[in-house]
Amino acid sequence: MSKRILIINTGGTLSSVMKKNGLIPGLSIYDMQKELKMVSGDTDIEIEDFCSLDSANIFPDDWSALAQRISECRNDYDGIVVIHGTDTLAYTSSMLSFMLRNIAIPVVITGSQLSITNPVADAMENCRCAIHMAASNIPGVFVAFNRKVMLGCRASKVRSLSFDAFESINYPNIATISSLGMKIDTSVVPERTGIFTLSNKYSDKVCMVKMFPGMHRSFIESIADQGYKGLYIEGYGIGGMPFLKHDFIGTLDKLISGGMAVVVGTQCRYEGTKMDVYETGKRTLDIGAMEAHDMTAEAALTKLMWILGITDNLSEIRDYYSINMIGEMTVRK
Ligand code: ASP
Repeated sequence: MSKRILIINTGGTLSSVMKKNGLIPGLSIYDMQKELKMVSGDTDIEIEDFCSLDSANIFPDDWSALAQRISECRNDYDGIVVIHGTDTLAYTSSMLSFMLRNIAIPVVITGSQLSITNPVADAMENCRCAIHMAASNIPGVFVAFNRKVMLGCRASKVRSLSFDAFESINYPNIATISSLGMKIDTSVVPERTGIFTLSNKYSDKVCMVKMFPGMHRSFIESIADQGYKGLYIEGYGIGGMPFLKHDFIGTLDKLISGGMAVVVGTQCRYEGTKMDVYETGKRTLDIGAMEAHDMTAEAALTKLMWILGITDNLSEIRDYYSINMIGEMTVRK
């Protein structure tokens, strides 16, 4: 029997048309039906529009509603494909990975760098890859792009123009398509650890900051004044923070003592933090900051938003944050 796949459209370049002010996502899923049928092979596809947005206009409430929609119809399909703009796709794929933890079917997010109406676009190839991954029976949240499939919580947009726009950061690809067909490496698919329950609450009182020489401490202090409960800050190298001329570690200490959940990551895309090596990292750990290890910035941020949707107890937050939940993090010993 052919596999039943639902394709949900949220917009992005894949569905775009040129208008007076530039490209906008102007095609509905029904306008793209013919092209989607052409790449669906022997699967049985159904289609629906969720929204039609440039992904710059996607917000956390959209993640939550999308997770809800996927949860509602998960038992009616063998797999679900989500068409999404590429710009914030990795944030959506990361958050859906947390909100849909332990889902029993494949949920595959894709997009493209050119509109599906463009004869030389990557759009149909990406949809083909996404649909076939969605028909694979391999559960989880994935991103399909440029003939590769990545874990949703490890994907990141690394190129703004090329077709090879996404990479799986610090984690192997789940599948690749070559002249040998689609090869799925099941050994790197994280195991389901329990039964599925939709967990689509979040806190939007989380801030993401990149450390730079010359940043003022008052800026970090103002985050607490504005009611933020979580801070993801990208430190230097393997996770260093300044403490001499400008005592940022002291400032973070005050924030943590006041109940703020602080996670320190790295500005380096690859290999992650190792904060117990230098004094600049060790002191930061000693004040109670959490470590992002090798997570992408998108996963580190959405993990914090998601955990703060569950609890605002600092020690519980630390417990949740320190474990690898869905394949998003490798804790180096
Ligand atoms: N601006 C577009 C978006 O993210 C870019 C794309 O889809 O490639 O919606």
